[in-house]
Amino acid sequence: MRFNLENLVRENIKAMKPYSSARHEFSGTASVFMDANENPYGSALPDNFNRYPDPLQRQVKEKLSQIKRVPSQNIFLGNGSDEAIDLLIRIFCEPGRNNVLIFPPTYGMYEVCAHVNNVQVKEISLTPAFQLDMEAIEQSVDTGTKIIFICSPNNPTGNSIERNDIEIILNNFDGPVVLDEAYINYSSQRSFIPELTEYPNLIVMQTLSKAWGLAGLRLGMLFASPPVIDLLNKIKYPYNINTATQHLVLQALDKREWMNEHIATTVKERELLKENLSRLDFTLAVYPSDANFLLVKMQNANTIYNFLCSKGIIVRNRSNINLCEDCLRITIGTPEENQKLLTVLKEYKPK
Ligand code: PMP
Repeated sequence: MRFNLENLVRENIKAMKPYSSARHEFSGTASVFMDANENPYGSALPDNFNRYPDPLQRQVKEKLSQIKRVPSQNIFLGNGSDEAIDLLIRIFCEPGRNNVLIFPPTYGMYEVCAHVNNVQVKEISLTPAFQLDMEAIEQSVDTGTKIIFICSPNNPTGNSIERNDIEIILNNFDGPVVLDEAYINYSSQRSFIPELTEYPNLIVMQTLSKAWGLAGLRLGMLFASPPVIDLLNKIKYPYNINTATQHLVLQALDKREWMNEHIATTVKERELLKENLSRLDFTLAVYPSDANFLLVKMQNANTIYNFLCSKGIIVRNRSNINLCEDCLRITIGTPEENQKLLTVLKEYKPK
């Protein structure tokens, strides 16, 4: 493995001095805090929101470390996974010179973050079976390629990417390979987190927005080698995870049974919905899913999308995306919501 972080990181990132906050400079016990220009009277709210939050979110990381069986120093927390995607691009990619590889149809933020940073995006379409086109990938990697983004289970197709192909990329690409496992809790596949010790170039992203049901709190998790974590901490905004999020996440993480129960229901409902959608005359395909949604190909998907909207049911119209022509992405709802969707779809009369 030729992964050499020193050669991969942008010179300005290596050379810069990070911001040092008041909370960074003092971390012992004290009773009077006159170091951060905070309001000593508290606030109108009962919690200690007058104080800046822990910039390194140590308590949250400790708890996540136990749950994920990864040392705390391998964890970075972002304001959603989206923050981590942006930071990674800014650490590794020289604007106007470097490129990243993505495999569409996939999650849109890899491309958006690259473009915000004036970084070229090389798109290598998935195969019609929604797997990696390994030959095309090999041909597309060049000396300017700095990051490869793989989403598994993939959004919007729902399937997992072949483990063997991911391993081939990890073994052969010299730069960071970002594996986005946002939907891993709904999958029968194993997470790559245990492989962190084997691949120094592996970066795994997960989120509390899906299975943990905390999309509104914005907490994305990134697991990587400590030197990569240090770089992310070096350039992030000092207080990227607010106090309310840190407090509430600590409470939520104690409720793993809640999460496991709802994962089980969602997976069961997914298979049931898949079967029922397949039976509709105008359904052309329901693709296999390892996530909390189904990609469904339907005759005149645009018309069906508008029909569902008119009945107050909103799904995601993916029909104008390559390989997803006439496809809707449907999030698995509660049993009642899924039943309502089916009842409404049965009222739809194809022209
Ligand atoms: N990755 C994938 C594949 C996603 O689908 C999403 C959200 N739809 C995210 C990341 C973003 O997660 P977060 O809410 O943590 O920013």
